[in-house]
This record gives sequence, structure tokens and C-alpha cells, in this order.
Amino acid sequence: MSNPFRLVIVGGGIAGLALATRLGKSLGRSGKLDITLVDKGFSHVWKPMLHCFAAGTARNENDRITFISHAAGHNFRFCYGEISGLDRANRRITLAPLVEKDDDNVVLEERYLDYDGIVFAIGSRANDFGTPGVLEHCIFLDNVVEANNFNERFRHALLQAYGRGTPVDIAIVGGGATGVQLAAELHKALEIGSLYNFTPKTPDMRVTLLEAGPRILPSFPEDVSAAAHKQLEALNISVRTGAMVSGVDESGFLLKDGSRVDAQFRVWAAGVKAPDVTRALDGLECTRGGQFVVKPSLQTTVDDRIFAMGDCSSIQNDPLPPTAQVARQEAHHLAKHLPAWILNQKPVPAFTFNNKGAIVALGSYNGWGTFPDGKTFGGGALHGLSARLGHTALYRQHQIELYGLRRGLIACLSDWLDGFVRPSVRMD
Ligand SMILES: Cc1cc2nc3c(=O)[nH]c(=O)nc-3n(C[C@H](O)[C@H](O)[C@H](O)COP(=O)(O)OP(=O)(O)OC[C@H]3O[C@@H](n4cnc5c(N)ncnc54)[C@H](O)[C@@H]3O)c2cc1C
Repeated sequence: MSNPFRLVIVGGGIAGLALATRLGKSLGRSGKLDITLVDKGFSHVWKPMLHCFAAGTARNENDRITFISHAAGHNFRFCYGEISGLDRANRRITLAPLVEKDDDNVVLEERYLDYDGIVFAIGSRANDFGTPGVLEHCIFLDNVVEANNFNERFRHALLQAYGRGTPVDIAIVGGGATGVQLAAELHKALEIGSLYNFTPKTPDMRVTLLEAGPRILPSFPEDVSAAAHKQLEALNISVRTGAMVSGVDESGFLLKDGSRVDAQFRVWAAGVKAPDVTRALDGLECTRGGQFVVKPSLQTTVDDRIFAMGDCSSIQNDPLPPTAQVARQEAHHLAKHLPAWILNQKPVPAFTFNNKGAIVALGSYNGWGTFPDGKTFGGGALHGLSARLGHTALYRQHQIELYGLRRGLIACLSDWLDGFVRPSVRMD
């Protein structure tokens, strides 16, 4: 019997883990496919929850899926590492040496993985557009490590604020879903925290949301933007549109009109670009934002053995927004068609996006959604609740897809029960 086809999936996020799990259950189980998932982290989280981890309103011990154990139960291998190079002629990828941050100690040397096919699913980061001072003075929320670091600093700042009676100032750049949801979630954290009344007075928390464009949530219809803007202001969150940031220093943001917004916490949640490594991968074609350019079949334009999906990819002449919905559907497309491509050399058909609309939730305060035909829903006590539940349902659907129905339902139940025994915001 010939050796099984070696498929390497790089990136275990929403798209990569869904693909590895689905293929593991089919070709992986039968031994026809040798699947390796590579990730620079040890566990998977649902990225649209990062702002809840940052605010401490969700606990990620419950929400992480550990790659090693998930792989063992789903007929694929996990390889911890960060891709740093690609040799297409010899079909080999390079993983960067693993070096300890504090003392430069090399834990693992550079390693190599041979492949017959690759699927890249390495996601994206916020884009600083070269704005001076952003990298040095802003916090990013692009992965669970950054979200947890933010939360640790946030809790320290709250402790100081309670102890000294001084305000906490936070400014967030980017009025897309990430910035808007983070602003509301931070407000919710402070509101819940104040219920524990460990000092008589709740400190002031000043949150400013800065958006360069004319309105927040630009990918949503105008009525949703206007309603969300109003809701944020009702929560005492200052929303400034048309506010173009031209620089950042250790005490705040400088705007293009010459004014300043000073803040102890400066969060950059604007723009999207692919991880820098994409440009170093043996001449694969990239967009200006570093995303791999792919054909409608999701194969890269220069090498049919290499696919890319999710935020790190852009379909030639028909780019789609970098959302969880697109990432999942692309993973499902490849899970369905890669087996015939691998076993029978059948071409992978063109991916078609089935737009099911979008939802944005402002913590437990309100939520809105939009249907594919542009009609909107949500807002207010009942409809806001339906939109918020819809937002949660997307996460539960993802959990059930990865865990399977029985374990997925147990995970939902255990999260619900957890709510009865633990504080609803992280305090330790
Ligand atoms: C705070 C926040 C809120 C959001 N809210 C929403 C929302 O409400 N709705 C929505 O549709 N979308 C939302 N998004 C966007 C959504 O999360 C992304 O579109 C989605 O996660 C993309 O999935 P992906 O699989 O392409 O990448 P990701 O889920 O980002 O996964 C990428 C994976 O690749 C790994 N990786 C990266 N670089 C390397 C490397 N060099 N080597 C090895 N591994 C690597 C990472 O560790 C990660 O596991 C939100 C994003 C953020 C940050």
C-alpha cells in the first residue's frame, strides 16, 4: 500500500480546526490521509470572544480546546510551532525555533515538515497602517495571550482605581465589531464588578471609541450603526467618528486635527492584515494586506498544492470580508471537496459564499443583526435579546461542530451551571 497523502493544515483557528476535525473523522480515520495541524499556540479559542476574555466577562479555561487532546480524539496529529518558511520545490515547511522570551534559551531548534498538500488558515491581525507609535504604545487583541495580558492590566488598574479613587481611562481605535463590542464589554465588567462593592464608590471609567470613518460599524446598515452609537453613548462611552489617529505616545493618541485623546489604556482594534510571514513564503502571491491570493477553488494562484482559507486569504477579483462565517464556510467547502482531489485528482470546485447575515452584540445591553437582503433586526429589550442569543448561538454551533453533539451540549450545560457558582466577571 502506498504512503498516505500528507496534508499539513497551518493554523488551528475557526477555519483550520474545523477542517482538521472534519477530515480527521473521514479520511483520517480510514488511514487514507495523514493530517498534521500546526499552530503557534497550544489551544483553540473562538476568536470573536476575545473581547470578553479581555474584559474578564468570560473565562477562557472553559472556552479553550487543547489541540493535543482534540487531535488525539479526531485522527490527526498536532505539531506545536510557528511557520517561518516554505520550500515549494522540495515540498517542505520550516517551523521557527522556539525561544524562551526572558532569557533567549532555545527550547526547540528550527524544524521541518514534509507535505504533499498544505492548507493555510493563519488568520489575521489588526493593521496599524504604519501609524507612528502604535506598535510601542498600543495593546492589540488579536489572540488569547494578548486578551489575557490586557485583562491582567485591566484588573490591576481597577484595583488602583478603587483603592485611590482615581478614574480609569481607556481609548479604543476602530469602530468595527471588535472595538464596539469591547467598549460595551468593558463597561459591563465594571458594572458587574461594582456589585461586589469592595469599596463604597465605583471609580469612573472613561471609555472613548475613535473611528476614522463617518460612522461606527461601517459594514452594517446605517440604522444599526446609529442605534449602536446611541446605545454606547447611553452607557457613557464617548464615540468620536471622523477621528483619524496620526500618532500614539505613552500617554495617548494624537489626532489628525491636532487634538489629543489621553488614555492609560490604548487599544488598537482597527484594520485587518495577514500575519507578516505570508510574504516570506516562497513567492506565494499576496494582496497589499498580506493575504494569500487564491483562485475560486481556494488554491493559491502560483501553486495548486497550496490552499488558503479564512482571514489570511483573499479570493482573486472577489474578496470576501474577514469574518467567522466566511472562514467556517470555506473550511466546510474544503472538507467536502479535498478528499476527491486527494484520492482521485478531481478538481476542487469554486467556493460560493452563502451570506447568512451578521450580528453584533453590545455585551448584555443590546444587539442587532442584518439579514442578507439588508433588512435589520434587534434593538430594545426583546429584539436586542434575540440578536444577543443569535450571537451566542454561533459560538455554541461552533463548539458542537468540534466536540460533536453530546460533548458539545455537555460543554454548554457546564458553562451554564458554572454561572451559578462563579462570579460573572474575573476578580482574581
Ligand atoms: C475581538 C474580535 C471579535 C470578533 N467578532 C466577530 C464577530 O462577531 N463575527 C464575525 O464573523 N467575526 C468576528 N471576528 C473575526 C473572526 O474572529 C475572524 O474572521 C475568524 O477568527 C477568522 O478565522 P480564521 O480561521 O481565518 O483565523 P483565526 O481564527 O484567527 O485562527 C488563526 C490561527 O492561526 C494560528 N497562527 C497564526 N499565525 C501562525 C503561524 N505563523 N504559524 C502557525 N500558526 C499560526 C493562530 O494561533 C490561530 O490559531 C472578531 C475578531 C476579533 C479579534
